[in-house]
Amino acid sequence: MPSLAKYYKLLTTNYLLWYTKTMSDCIFCRIIKGEIPAKKVYEDDDFLAFDDINPQAPLHFLVIPKKHIPNIMEAEAGDTGLLGQLLFKAQELAQSNGCAEKGARFIINCKSNGGQTVDHLHCHVLGGRFMTWPPG
Ligand code: AMP
Ligand code: ZN
Repeated sequence: MPSLAKYYKLLTTNYLLWYTKTMSDCIFCRIIKGEIPAKKVYEDDDFLAFDDINPQAPLHFLVIPKKHIPNIMEAEAGDTGLLGQLLFKAQELAQSNGCAEKGARFIINCKSNGGQTVDHLHCHVLGGRFMTWPPG
């Protein structure tokens, strides 16, 4: 086999392995693709926001980048713009969903000690009630 074809095969095999392990069975990537239904709060080319299926407050939605980043610790230097936009979008949506006056809580859980259960970076926005501190 010519070396270019070998290289191409290696590349596609590795991509398929990576895809199978990450995006293909990521619940949030499947929501982005429309394979799993969600109550959308907002969508543009780079971000999606939708109601949390197990709400912990009168208002509880998630803001996610469409790019599959497993958690905030795996964000790279090139993702800083995306991270800034994620937080800015979260606060804009909190304001437009009734939290402008009293505020809201913005949470990013990370890995097992951080309580993360879905391995696709997301920012929780909770509002509509007083939040206690410290969290559990
Ligand atoms: P975390 O524990 O920070 O990873 O948050 C994951 C959140 O995703 C939890 O609050 C879940 O209730 C929520 N969640 C899981 N599956 C879905 C789904 N299909 N639609 C909406 N929210 C979901
Ligand atoms: Zn994903």
